[in-house]
Formats: sequence, structure tokens, C-alpha cells
Amino acid sequence: MLKEKMEKALNEQINKELYSAYLYLSMSAYSQTLGMPGVANWMKIQAQEELTHANKFFDYIHERDGKVTLSAIDAVETKFGSVTEMFKKVLEHEQYVSESINKLVDISIELSDHATRSILMWFVDEQVEEEASVQDILDKLAMFDAKGHGLFMLDKDLGSRAFVDETQAE
Ligand code: MG
Repeated sequence: MLKEKMEKALNEQINKELYSAYLYLSMSAYSQTLGMPGVANWMKIQAQEELTHANKFFDYIHERDGKVTLSAIDAVETKFGSVTEMFKKVLEHEQYVSESINKLVDISIELSDHATRSILMWFVDEQVEEEASVQDILDKLAMFDAKGHGLFMLDKDLGSRAFVDETQAE
């Protein structure tokens, strides 16, 4: 059985994951207005991934005989500036989510909730990957100053990203 403090914090994390999905879906729509279908595809898959994260917490809470409480999802912005500015916002958001996961780990340690700590380690690793993949895109954008043939090729490359449900990997 989950302790109340842990259950509440996990429910808040479900909201954050769903907000992330909403944010990336909005960025996907915005990318279409920039004429960047590849970036739009990358963002849409990013949104799908966030849904799987929310779902992993959702199932886990039930597994531990806890109660899922879904709260309102905040509205998201609709404009994100240049493609570089948008990816900087993605990185900032992922850093915020990493912080949030770290705080959950702190709570699990405080409560000696080793089962929750164990599932959270998956998310700790996932956040390292998330931040690295966004940083990689930002590095590429800086390399060709976010324009010309480089930008065209990056958009093409991001257009080939396919959805993989990492939560079902093990
Ligand atoms: Mg996530």
C-alpha cells in the first residue's frame, strides 16, 4: 500500500507527464506553421512518449493499491519563437521534469518506499536520455546556425523518428 505522501506526489507527476504531452503536441502544431514537418513529427512522438510515462505511473499506483486522481491540465503556449528557441524550451522543460523526478526519489527514500524508488530509477535514466537527445539537437542547430541546408537535413532527420514504447521494453 502506498503512503499518502507518496501517492499524492505520484499523482502530481501524472499531471506533469500529461502536461508535457500537451506541451509537445502544441509545439508539434506550431512546427507545422514554421513549415517544419520533421520537427512536427519529432514533437508528436515526444508527446506520445509522455503519455506512456503518465501511463506507467497510472498503472504503478494501481499495482500498489493506491488511488489515481486526475486533475486539470494547465493550458499550454501556442507560439514558441524560432526552432532553436523552441528546443531550448524543450530542454528547460525536461530539466524541470528531471528535478521533479529527483524530488520523488527523495520522498521515496524519506518514506523507505523501496518499491517506488525502484520504478523511479527507470525515470531517472529516462531523463538522462531525454536531456541528452534535446541537447544533441541544439548542438546541431548551433553548428549550422539553424538555417540553410543543415536545417533542411535536420528536419528530414527528425522526420524519421518513429514511436517506440520504452516503458514496454523490459
Ligand atoms: Mg516524461
